Amino acid sequence: MDLLNTLVDKGLRRELPTRDEALAVLATSDDELLDVVAAAGKVRRHWFGRRVKLNYLVNLKSGLCPEDCSYCSQRLGADTGILKYTWLKPDEASKAAAAGLAGGAKRVCLVASGRGPTDRDVDRVSDTIKTIKEENEGVEVCACLGLLSDGQAERLRGAGADAYNHNLNTSEATYGDITKTHTYADRVDTVQKAHAAGLSACSGLISGMGETDKDLVDVVFALRQLDADSVPVNFLIPFEGTPLAKEWNLTPQRCLRILAMVRFVCPDIEVRIAGGRELHLRTLQPLALHLANSIFLGDYLTSEGQAGKADLEMIADAGFEVETTDQVTLPEHRRGGGCGSVCGSEESANSACGSKEAEVPAAEAEVPEARTDLVAVRRRGAGTDLAPNA
Ligand code: SF4
Repeated sequence: MDLLNTLVDKGLRRELPTRDEALAVLATSDDELLDVVAAAGKVRRHWFGRRVKLNYLVNLKSGLCPEDCSYCSQRLGADTGILKYTWLKPDEASKAAAAGLAGGAKRVCLVASGRGPTDRDVDRVSDTIKTIKEENEGVEVCACLGLLSDGQAERLRGAGADAYNHNLNTSEATYGDITKTHTYADRVDTVQKAHAAGLSACSGLISGMGETDKDLVDVVFALRQLDADSVPVNFLIPFEGTPLAKEWNLTPQRCLRILAMVRFVCPDIEVRIAGGRELHLRTLQPLALHLANSIFLGDYLTSEGQAGKADLEMIADAGFEVETTDQVTLPEHRRGGGCGSVCGSEESANSACGSKEAEVPAAEAEVPEARTDLVAVRRRGAGTDLAPNA
């Protein structure tokens, strides 16, 4: 396929595909799927070899959020049956983090529900970051606390945070359909604040919320333009009790196409398979390792993932290796605060963003089965007396 040869060439040169090309990846047929995976896999191996970075989530504060994000099990008034608890103490968070690190994770992601942290919350999280860093040499710590106010990113950086996560989630055009209590611009602002403070910016998307292919391409192009170092790709977990509970839109094949598109648009950026991996990729999870170079180990914030041991076995069986703390995730040209001229290039970014909308045929309609049997609310690890899954 000329399309795939072109995309591989561009990926190896870190050149932005056109929007038409990105849309065409999403519109490929199931017959072409393995060719798509093989092509994006070449780009993945060129920049990241066969390494898989493992990240471990610690939910510092669960539920009780005043915001109304329609995809989220922690949203205001959601009747989802999730664990609800307030801030973990630094030693509790550090204990949870240690389990993930012992399981092979190199990054710990400290997440708290809420619109954004107060200054007191930043103090608490700073203490937690310091405790985790003191007790675990070489660990990377990412904070994910919502919208940041002026000066908070700098304080987190000063406490030792390496990265800050705040997802754009979907396109600017549809953001208002999924959340009313804050805006797309608010989210962009926080990613920019993190970046400006010298934190590695982690920002991603959620697919499967009923968005169009154009929305997906828009958000991925926006993430590249924001110069995120890592891009988590979530597949919606349609929690009962949320407005999106009936949105079962994803097939394993669709998930692979989405990951391939993200890899072509973000060739040298950490592409992370995030929530919904087990639920939507199911037995095709190992193929996704040819596209993404990073996954979460064990459980998610409010739902359970497959056993951490199963994650490790899958990586080994698929011929990949867990990235160690002495291996640097990003290619050399992206280290040390941004990628310089390529991703930030006005020319490359604007020319693609300004290209005409593709007139590619829509992918054949698929009606996936609702797999509610695979959604398990987290009942172990942080905030419980039970051992974490790592
Ligand atoms: S995504 Fe974050 S801000 Fe939105 S409802 Fe969930 S916890 Fe609250």
